[in-house]
Amino acid sequence: MLLGGNMSDVQSTFVQVLVQMEEFSNVLSASGLYKTKAWGMEEGTPDFINQAVIVSTPLKPETLLRRFQTIELDFGRFRKNGDKYESRTIDIDIIFFDDYILRSEILTIPHPRMQERNFVLVPLAEIAGNWVHPVLLKSVKQLLADSPDSLAVDRL
Ligand code: ADP
Ligand code: MG
Repeated sequence: MLLGGNMSDVQSTFVQVLVQMEEFSNVLSASGLYKTKAWGMEEGTPDFINQAVIVSTPLKPETLLRRFQTIELDFGRFRKNGDKYESRTIDIDIIFFDDYILRSEILTIPHPRMQERNFVLVPLAEIAGNWVHPVLLKSVKQLLADSPDSLAVDRL
């Protein structure tokens, strides 16, 4: 899965998110943290930070997604003015789930845009470079080499 966020305390949020995930999964490996410029967004938008994580879990994909969304709500919103919720600061996406191919209203696996996003492929290549995309039949390394994305992704 891929963690993402662009608030100043993203790194400590990621650590806390991983602790929460241990309640329903085992975190097997995690990439370093990578920074991507927030191109095409409002001036002053902070850089995005991403981390790829591999977990094992007894949950099925839909249930896992629901648990992730609960965590997003717990951690991902901060209170600015009184109790008014502001922008989401943590995004948890399922990039792949073994070799499952799944397309439903709420969940597409593998993630439909993973092959065109360096901020997904670069962290993923660090921990799962040889995983082969079950539809495109290319490894993560090959997808990265073929990526149309020119955004720089820098390891922190
Ligand atoms: P994004 O991740 O594209 O920035 P959101 O996190 O708000 O945006 O997700 C939008 C919707 O994408 C979610 O409500 C979820 O149902 C759906 N979705 C489809 N496939 C996936 C996936 N593989 N991982 C996470 N969410 C997914
Ligand atoms: Mg998401």
